[in-house]
Amino acid sequence: MEYFDPAETWSRDALVHAQGVRLRAIVDRALRSPFYRERLGKTGLSPGDIACAEDVGRLPFTTKDDVRAAYPWGMTAAPREDLVRLHVSSGTTGVPVAVYHTQDDVDAWADLMARCLHMVGIRRGDVFQNIAGYGLFTGGLGIHYGAERLGCLTIPAGTGNTRRQLRLLRDMQVAAIHIIPSYALYLGAMLMDEGVDPRSLPVRIALIGAEPHTEEVRQRIEYLLGVKAYNSYGLSEMNGPGVAFECLAQGGLHVWEDAFLAEIVNPETGEPVPEGEIGELVMTTLIRRGMPLLRYRTRDLTRFLPGLCACGRRHRRIDRILGRVDDMFIVKGCNIYPLQIEQILMSFPEVGETYLIILEQAENMDQIRVQVEIREEHFIEDMRALHGLQRKIAARIRDEILVTPKIELVEPKSLPRAEGKARRVEDRRPALTRP
Ligand code: AMP
Ligand code: ZN
Repeated sequence: MEYFDPAETWSRDALVHAQGVRLRAIVDRALRSPFYRERLGKTGLSPGDIACAEDVGRLPFTTKDDVRAAYPWGMTAAPREDLVRLHVSSGTTGVPVAVYHTQDDVDAWADLMARCLHMVGIRRGDVFQNIAGYGLFTGGLGIHYGAERLGCLTIPAGTGNTRRQLRLLRDMQVAAIHIIPSYALYLGAMLMDEGVDPRSLPVRIALIGAEPHTEEVRQRIEYLLGVKAYNSYGLSEMNGPGVAFECLAQGGLHVWEDAFLAEIVNPETGEPVPEGEIGELVMTTLIRRGMPLLRYRTRDLTRFLPGLCACGRRHRRIDRILGRVDDMFIVKGCNIYPLQIEQILMSFPEVGETYLIILEQAENMDQIRVQVEIREEHFIEDMRALHGLQRKIAARIRDEILVTPKIELVEPKSLPRAEGKARRVEDRRPALTRP
């Protein structure tokens, strides 16, 4: 195995042993923050009670609400003057979910990120274009410093201005990009509309992440951009990107277990689920100094993948994120995740890049309406063909979610596009009747 960091080659035993040692140290560290002094104080637990990685189960959970309630300084575990970086988790309104880093934290994060980039074949000297929002969003600076650490010529392109992005890609002979899946689809569609052969572009590798997406979307991105696309998972509370990442085998994401301790629990009971079953990912930072987090409830749903990865790394793999606990909606008694609908939409070649799921009430009944962009060349087809397509999509979705949606085919580029993470569901049901 070609590796960037020796920790990539550690055996299971070495990883689990290091996790035990680091867990005890991080509990000790966490006790420096007012929040954990109180929270752990209540349980009577001390670092001495943590002898191995499995003892993580004795610690209390930490939730997003806890982090909010502790804002601004309640969770920091380093002297104020040692903190050098602040990020805020996206999509939050009201009280921010702020995460603080020391210089050591920022360095360790860059190392983890460089490890990810190296793992998928990016090397020193490659040109790397980061097509992600800079600012509080961790996909900007987080990925940026990783690419620099690896030794890439790194372009902080940001989002938008698609023409300039393309120009940079060509002029700089960019080898790899980082891009949010919904924007990658948009960029790909634009290339197609303009008759640009993606294989004429220099880019070989795309890192895609920051929002849930299906295997169908990955394949589309690979086809439209002429790249290999690798799934990048992370969340601001655990630094941001660089938590779990796909290797060349593209069969699940390795969690960097020397830096994070991952558990998967039943979201309702908090009990660990049996190996291989889907549940909520819970994560503990093992090395962070500025703001350690113990058993953080990510709200993301996934499972540990069984078996050993062909790449040789023994860091356990998680499945692509299958949804968020909070994304699930209930219509006519059926529990539905948006990705179930996306998976079907994206398997139709006639369907374009964007869709919107609208939940609404008609005659006192909840219903699902899906607005689906159709590709230019199909939109001009006759009514009969379009009606047929509408019926086919509705039937396939009904088979999957057990509710028949209303399908509305709309013109290409007519649905709103986000520059950052896409918003795929709009709940227009009166608040009182929502489950
Ligand atoms: P943020 O609050 O901006 O740090 O966003 C973190 C959240 O983005 C995660 O908790 C996930 O819900 C989502 N996310 C990040 N990466 C991925 C990915 N590769 N696949 C699916 N969802 C992701
Ligand atoms: Zn692997």
